[in-house]
Amino acid sequence: MIYFIGAGPGDPDLITVKGKKKLEEADVIIYAGSLVNKELLKYAKQSCKIYNSAEMDLEQVLEVMSSEHGQDKCIVRLHTGDPSIYGAIREQMDELDKKGMSYEVIPGVSSFCAAAAALKKEYTLPGVTQTVILTRMEGRTAVPGYESIEALASHKATMIIFLSVHMIGELAERLKKGYGKDTPVAVVYKASWPEQKIIRGTLETIEGMVKEEAVRKTALVVVGDFLGDDYQLSKLYDKTFTHEFRSARE
Ligand code: SAH
Repeated sequence: MIYFIGAGPGDPDLITVKGKKKLEEADVIIYAGSLVNKELLKYAKQSCKIYNSAEMDLEQVLEVMSSEHGQDKCIVRLHTGDPSIYGAIREQMDELDKKGMSYEVIPGVSSFCAAAAALKKEYTLPGVTQTVILTRMEGRTAVPGYESIEALASHKATMIIFLSVHMIGELAERLKKGYGKDTPVAVVYKASWPEQKIIRGTLETIEGMVKEEAVRKTALVVVGDFLGDDYQLSKLYDKTFTHEFRSARE
């Protein structure tokens, strides 16, 4: 059986219990070496064969999977964060479907969740925004035109931008067209790793601050008024608001 597993954002304690159990059982692990914390490989048994997919192409990854598969082995494909976000997991699953090879997906803690934890913020604040956009700016990989940064920024929702911190100047300029220049923005570098860094500014100031700290990769840009302090209290814990689990108190 093949297991696609979300390794979590970095801290090895942030893999799920289910994911860790499979790592311990694995006969083969193919891990995304550029971002997965190598500490996680310590859970593997001595005889486990370990491959770093950073040095492999899709065909080579599938080759390892199919050559080991027939023999009742436990094969783990370890992706960073959660594999459903920029994981390039779909192309692997489709090939496995074609070959009739079975697999399961075990989710992980995405880096955008670790970033909120590091910032100690909530992405969905009542009266501010109830929407979270996960996106990237086009670089070597294109983004459909209808998802331009300007179009998404016009909603003034919470926006989390992956894979783009090296283009922070252009990104901030384009974000300003929707949010306004004084909107708060934070850059979270290596959320949950020991070297985690948080840079806070506005769309006007962030470029200089990020350049000063020389952050060029493994960071998320998060923007929106959820970073501010104006919001309404939630209905969920409002004593005059009744719901399924609680009736009104006087
Ligand atoms: N599947 C992953 C994302 C993979 S794309 C997830 O769910 O998190 C790789 C990008 O994710 C990086 O360029 C960076 O923008 C972001 N990223 C991954 N780990 C991160 C971390 N610990 N802190 C901040 N950003 C991270």
